[in-house]
Amino acid sequence: MYHRYHIQTSVAPEIAPFPNRTRVKVKKYGLAMHLLKELIRHRGNREVALSRPCVYGVFSGPVGGFAPRSYACVGCLRCMIEYPEMVQVQVNPEHQHLGDSYFTQDHVDTICYEARTGRIPVKGAGYRGPFGGEGWDGMWTDMSEIVRPTRDGIHGREFISTSVDIGQKPPFLCFPAQGGASGESVRPFSIPLPVLFDVPPTSLLSSKLLKILLAAAQRAETLLVLPVRVLEKFTLQGQNIIPLVGGETANLLSQLRFAPPMIELDGWDEELLREIRTRFPTSTICLRHDFVSGEELLKHYHAGIRVFHLVANYHGLGPDGRFVLELIRKAHGTFVDAGCRDEVTLLGSGGIIAAEHVPKAIICGLDAVALETAHLVAMQAQFLCECLDRESSRFRLPRRLTINWGVQRVENLLASWRDQLLEVLGAMGLRDVRRLRGEIGRAMFQKDLEREAFSGIEGYDQ
Ligand code: SF4
Repeated sequence: MYHRYHIQTSVAPEIAPFPNRTRVKVKKYGLAMHLLKELIRHRGNREVALSRPCVYGVFSGPVGGFAPRSYACVGCLRCMIEYPEMVQVQVNPEHQHLGDSYFTQDHVDTICYEARTGRIPVKGAGYRGPFGGEGWDGMWTDMSEIVRPTRDGIHGREFISTSVDIGQKPPFLCFPAQGGASGESVRPFSIPLPVLFDVPPTSLLSSKLLKILLAAAQRAETLLVLPVRVLEKFTLQGQNIIPLVGGETANLLSQLRFAPPMIELDGWDEELLREIRTRFPTSTICLRHDFVSGEELLKHYHAGIRVFHLVANYHGLGPDGRFVLELIRKAHGTFVDAGCRDEVTLLGSGGIIAAEHVPKAIICGLDAVALETAHLVAMQAQFLCECLDRESSRFRLPRRLTINWGVQRVENLLASWRDQLLEVLGAMGLRDVRRLRGEIGRAMFQKDLEREAFSGIEGYDQ
């Protein structure tokens, strides 16, 4: 039966202390004198006097500004500008230690807001950062097509689809004389959101976390990749799980007690591929691999692989040190040049840590992305080191983590990211995320623009 896709959001406040961006310090004597003056000026109106000098209520606690509520500070700096002799707003050093060199404090802040509220973060003061940079920041989406893609906005009666197809798609159908269409035996399946959950880091594997991820995947109708060894250890099964099998775990394949929609092959193994095809004839087979050269991808394509999960490290770097944006474009271009892009599905993971990275990765050529760390940060996972890959990364989840809270935070994150994807699609006049794949004309790349503008000028360094 048809149901309109919707992710249920609900406010889920933090369960572990979350350091605010700023720390407010106030000189008590100066504040006392100021309050006295204000009380006289406003004829004893305590409410007005105690609301100064911050409209956000930082100085409006039970003991006024003598114990400023730094968590309410938004960093507008009005108090410091008006009363520099009395108030000091400083960067909170605890906040500086959130995340790591790639997953910066700003990303952690944004994800926590999205996971808490399920809403799109809107900054009233406008964007104050740089307009270009490294990695994903060197790519801009062109949202100048302000046409109405639907009759009444992106959440209206008509639907902007965020569904994507995963699986092998035949290049054409044959209609034999006896009727019906002949095609491949394994049909593609759809998920309503181009976002999956990738294998969680080894340091965090626990029954509770797996239950949260599985429940979140079920509620958002998406998929979770888990190694078969983990499935066996925690006795997990379900249609939202993609077993990851390869190398030493190949023998565990026989212990899988369900037919998953897709199975990931961890690196190329012809014998194992044959075995999976025999044991699970209805499951789609996906090859998980580093971002490899175009020739190698085409070699696997000719060997019958139609779904690829290409993996970069948590910082979005491939084995040769190139950023994932460039690697995705290369992989996508390989299949376009070979004339078979529509037959394959490209999934990708590595470095997708913000809502805007999803449409950017899709424009570069992916069909869907797999999250590695963003959904963990939504559950207030703390980085304990520079986290680069599944094995060496160390995270810590809050002690008070509960299944319901964790599921809601992940759902909120997905709802917020989906809304932001809808905004991008709406602003581009697209009604289907499948149309966004490889739409490079909807993007601008800082390097290309700079080359166009400055090449030939002395001092310009490509
Ligand atoms: S910086 Fe702005 S929000 Fe923070 S305490 Fe001062 S006035 Fe309030």
